[in-house]
Amino acid sequence: MILLDGNATSQQIRNEIAEKVTAIKNSGKRAPHLVAVIVGNNGASLTYVNAKVKACEEVGFQSTLLHLEETLSQEELLAHVSGLNADPGVDGYIVQLPLPAHIDEKKVLLAVDPEKDVDGFHPESVGRMALDLEGFLPATPAGIIELLRRYKVPTEGKHAVVIGRSHIVGLPMTILLQKNAYPGNCTVTITHSKTKNLEEICRTADILIAALGRPEFVTSSMVKDGAVVIDVGITRVEDSSKKKGFRIAGDVLFDDVAPKCSFITPVPGGVGPMTIVALMTNTLLAFERKH
Ligand code: NAP
Repeated sequence: MILLDGNATSQQIRNEIAEKVTAIKNSGKRAPHLVAVIVGNNGASLTYVNAKVKACEEVGFQSTLLHLEETLSQEELLAHVSGLNADPGVDGYIVQLPLPAHIDEKKVLLAVDPEKDVDGFHPESVGRMALDLEGFLPATPAGIIELLRRYKVPTEGKHAVVIGRSHIVGLPMTILLQKNAYPGNCTVTITHSKTKNLEEICRTADILIAALGRPEFVTSSMVKDGAVVIDVGITRVEDSSKKKGFRIAGDVLFDDVAPKCSFITPVPGGVGPMTIVALMTNTLLAFERKH
């Protein structure tokens, strides 16, 4: 069993990005600039956003955290989005999800300038991905693909099963895995909460991507010998033995499943850091396109 180490791999990519940023600055240009917008005080969202901002600073990007009040109206948020679209000093920005219930996420998503859509959620980005045109790939699936590439995980002709069909993880994951490329060329099955015989389907997977957000859902009885298992899940589970009162659990029961796998990602330290680095790769791409 080989551990797909997202911490080490993302550090390697961050070093590569930092070198590029140094070269950009040495050429007299300003650093790439990412803005992270967060509305309200959701603890998990704040943790993710702060990790993104910190990672940007580490590679020499300029980064700005725009922390807005929970009570902000939809119009006010859209005005911020317009401002970011118009600002030539901003290469890319993300609006951290979920947004408060009174704000229509779709309206906000559609208002993002596709040239600055470093989260890759805008329909133009999704369309470009599906048509194999250069563009911003959604960070989590792109991070997973990069992890498979860096570990030279065989994918051609393999049966990939994705659990979850969200627009930010499951669905784009299936698009990337079926591409006529490496990593890719998989035969893909997408599953969701209405799927019948899920366990049986999972057992046929050479590559199993668990992105459903149910802690430790995938057990060894659902996994074929020698499978590649990618655990996307991040759920806070109450744990009084921890200082914070919770621990982070993946969608895979790691100790049970790992012995059967050829490759597996841990949680934490697998897909999470790869997601952050994919966002930075997109920001660099946004900057390079502009300059
Ligand atoms: P989501 O929008 O809630 O989607 C979950 C998907 O899983 C849905 O398609 C749902 O089916 C399906 N599902 C739920 N229960 C199921 C079951 N019992 N059997 C089969 N399918 C089931 O979640 P998401 O945003 O994709 O995120 C999924 C997980 O990944 C979460 O834990 C999230 O925190 C984590 N995540 C991690 C990263 C990272 O960087 N590591 C990034 C993004 C998300 P229906 O469509 O039928 O409801």
